[in-house]
Amino acid sequence: MFDWLIIGGGIQGCTAAVYFLKQKKVSIDKLAIIDPNEKPLSMWLHCTSTIDMPYLRSPSIHHLAPAHFDLEKFAKTTKGKSYASFYKPYDRPGLQLFNTHCEHLFKETNLQNSWIQGRVFQLKKEREYWKVFLKDGQQLESNNVLLAIGLSEHPYWPDWALTAKENGASISHIFECEQKVPDSTKSLTIIGGGITAAHAAIKWSRLLPSRVTQISRHSLRVHQFDSDPGWLGPKLMRNFHAASSYEKRREMIRLARHRGSLPLDIKAKVSKQIKNGSLYFLQDEVSEVQSDSTRNEVKLQSGQKISSDHILLATGFHQSPPGIEWLKPTIEERHLQCATCGYPILSTSLQWDDGLYAIGALSELEIGPVARNISGARRGIERILKSI
Ligand SMILES: Cc1cc2nc3c(=O)[nH]c(=O)nc-3n(C[C@H](O)[C@H](O)[C@H](O)COP(=O)(O)OP(=O)(O)OC[C@H]3O[C@@H](n4cnc5c(N)ncnc54)[C@H](O)[C@@H]3O)c2cc1C
Repeated sequence: MFDWLIIGGGIQGCTAAVYFLKQKKVSIDKLAIIDPNEKPLSMWLHCTSTIDMPYLRSPSIHHLAPAHFDLEKFAKTTKGKSYASFYKPYDRPGLQLFNTHCEHLFKETNLQNSWIQGRVFQLKKEREYWKVFLKDGQQLESNNVLLAIGLSEHPYWPDWALTAKENGASISHIFECEQKVPDSTKSLTIIGGGITAAHAAIKWSRLLPSRVTQISRHSLRVHQFDSDPGWLGPKLMRNFHAASSYEKRREMIRLARHRGSLPLDIKAKVSKQIKNGSLYFLQDEVSEVQSDSTRNEVKLQSGQKISSDHILLATGFHQSPPGIEWLKPTIEERHLQCATCGYPILSTSLQWDDGLYAIGALSELEIGPVARNISGARRGIERILKSI
């Protein structure tokens, strides 16, 4: 029997685990982290490495450890020094530094000893504890369960892209693990106008100069962060919590998120590639794709047509609540509350049921627009720890 069982070993689940262990709220043998991947943060490592992201968008105080300046302190140690790299303003840490700091925390806490590779498909309340069923047949018991399932496994495919794929077009989503841009690609069309599309456009226009086109529905929108930093504190969160209607909260989240935006330094890099002729940028919308065995022709609403060897989607993730399909029987059996958007209605301590908690995307109606980010993970687990 475990004390705490975390479902999902991404940024959210690992932040929670590091807090539990560092603050001695649970011992390593009483903690389990269930994730289908071999090691912690697999989806994060995949998504960030595939776009060659050099720096995080968030500042250096957003990391997985409870102490505020842990990452900065680590950057001054013998181990961290060789990776130390920050981008001003806001001291955004280099990705390598951030990832090495995570590894350091996992070693320090022996987190790997709590790791159980597997996929949960059912959750049942049994008298005083929860029973967790894994696809490989394992059954685990725990007093508390923390849902930390993110959206990384659910890349968003627009309808026209699904049709194009069915019709045999050479098309992939940047965050899909199995599919990659084929090695033989000599020309590429990137779809999307946010930070991911921008990173991809920079990467690919350096690899294939003058043979990359980026298509975005809007011009490049500059925002330093993906939501106003006021959402990290009472300035904006007071109003959010004052809203008793979850529809209103959902709308506040929607309006707060600077979707499809990027910081100024990334915009400058994209602009440089456009100016030197390595990248073509088109503000337009795709209406359909026509393809044969050698070419993929993207037809735009303006009537223009762009042909390339491959189409790369940088269209983000699905917005529906992750894990909700397999959680459905639990929701029905335990009468768990969900808002009309399908997301859980949690208590202020992020509890959904007796001994059942959620952080990350599933906690956003309580944590607000930053819930999915590293800062949201910190806020989430701090709330849970305060309540136990
Ligand atoms: C390219 C990129 C850059 C970003 N940069 C920043 C940044 O600079 N700063 C910032 O704060 N945020 C950033 N973010 C946003 C955010 O921090 C990430 O999206 C974060 O990785 C989400 O973590 P997560 O744990 O919620 O989800 P995930 O990464 O999706 O992890 C969830 C894990 O749960 C597992 N899982 C799912 N279902 C089950 C199941 N049934 N059983 C067991 N396990 C399951 C998954 O396999 C996965 O490993 C960035 C995101 C991306 C994509």
